[in-house]
Amino acid sequence: MGKSIGIDLGTANTLVYVKGKGIVLREPSVVAVEARSRRVVAVGNEAKLMLGKTPGSITAMRPLKDGVIAEFDVTAAMLHHFFNRVAGNTLFSRPRVIICIPYGVTEVEKRAVQDVTLEAGAQSVALIEEPIAAAIGAGLKVANAQGSMIVDIGGGTTEVAVMSLGGIVLSTSLRSAGDELDEAIIAYMKRKHNILIGEMTAEMLKKNIGSVYPQSDRGNMVIRGRNLLNGLPATISVTSAEIREAMSEEISHIIDCIRTTLENTPPELASDIYDNGIMLAGGGALLSGLDMLISRVTGIRTTIAKSPLDCVAVGIGHVIESVGDMSGIVTFRSR
Ligand code: ADP
Ligand code: MG
Repeated sequence: MGKSIGIDLGTANTLVYVKGKGIVLREPSVVAVEARSRRVVAVGNEAKLMLGKTPGSITAMRPLKDGVIAEFDVTAAMLHHFFNRVAGNTLFSRPRVIICIPYGVTEVEKRAVQDVTLEAGAQSVALIEEPIAAAIGAGLKVANAQGSMIVDIGGGTTEVAVMSLGGIVLSTSLRSAGDELDEAIIAYMKRKHNILIGEMTAEMLKKNIGSVYPQSDRGNMVIRGRNLLNGLPATISVTSAEIREAMSEEISHIIDCIRTTLENTPPELASDIYDNGIMLAGGGALLSGLDMLISRVTGIRTTIAKSPLDCVAVGIGHVIESVGDMSGIVTFRSR
């Protein structure tokens, strides 16, 4: 019997949780493949460093898009690589895998996640809904009759979910999250400074000096790009206020999504949420000032989960550790 492991297969990052050990792997969901042979050249961190820098014969790609699998074979190869890496120090053969899926994906998309996991070498696979896993990982008491709200801002999607009695009462998913913020920064630099910057630079600006609240200004950063007027390399200094302006439209989409979900929440649960607050998870939760902005707009206390990037994996881990055979919670499918 293989060991049980949990996987958070995210658009931006993949995490692996091994029963009895905790999170043993956190890597970007990026794969570098050789164009002609489709041979995998690098996976994870190593491949991410290649994004935007590969020679013609190699493509660094992100096989998931907006929370779902866009490139089946590449996703399977990536997971297979991660299984092997994890197996290297734990001596297991084919693992039993619990993997999460975004709430509201189609049956076809669900099936693809199961198939890809088996294809990658799992002995059996079970699915768990991502907002539930994130809420458990963030320490919310999801089994209570108390309503709670979790907002998970990942790479490709923002998921807002209201939960009660261990189930999802309603959920809204928005294809606007970390990646769109990076794209908005790239577009802004083009428009305002005639400078083309790469995805990695845009993400760095967002993480290092990005903020969504004027009171949390974070200074300047000097970056390099290409001047679109003369084609030459250029160096400029960018301010925190500029990044805030660049991100403002995407941020307002996220805020609107939270507000709409609150408006659609049954009144009793909404009043629970007013009492208990909103929990933020996913990498986007780390965006400076976002908790303050959401609190101000909704009038509801907003908290950032302890390790927002780990929430989903920690939540799956909880399920793996606490439920003996897990049969009541999840259903395994074998090859
Ligand atoms: P996914 O579950 O979709 O893989 P994650 O929850 O791992 O996504 O979050 C990844 C996103 O979070 C990326 O867009 C990344 O740029 C963003 N992110 C990570 N750290 C920060 C930070 N400190 N500030 C703002 N955004 C961040
Ligand atoms: Mg995620």
